[in-house]
Amino acid sequence: MAVARTRRRRGELTPLCQMVLDVVVGAGRPLGAYGIIAQLEMTSGRRVLPASLYRSLGVLLERGLITRIETRNAFLANVQAMTTLADIYFICDQCGAVRTVKVSALANLIDNEADALGFQIGRRVIEMQGICNRCRDSRIGQPEQLINRKTMPTRA
Ligand SMILES: [Zn+2]
Repeated sequence: MAVARTRRRRGELTPLCQMVLDVVVGAGRPLGAYGIIAQLEMTSGRRVLPASLYRSLGVLLERGLITRIETRNAFLANVQAMTTLADIYFICDQCGAVRTVKVSALANLIDNEADALGFQIGRRVIEMQGICNRCRDSRIGQPEQLINRKTMPTRA
């Protein structure tokens, strides 16, 4: 189970931090703060204040145990240790599915650019937004509707 793999890196997490981590790991997809709170309250039967949640999320982010998907304002478990690889997130706009790909060649390119700029990299987040293969397949037969919506001229 994914939870066991991350336990090693937990260190001295508070009980709430551990619960938050379990929820995010268990979800297997990006969860927003309110989704996390709903799950926490369901499992613990207690109220969780947003401020407490954000504190826990801050700790987990700092330790690299979770990643924030900036464009969705959601959190995803980082089951593997922080590496020098660049994580590329492919995020489906339609169903929210996320595929993560680690690319070392890209990380090297980024390192070179950062060196040239004298920039110290903290976190590496590369997000691609679009449509996953499943949603794309389910669209076949009705693509015109989408094209029309995009190209429809704005009313003057
Ligand atoms: Zn999709």
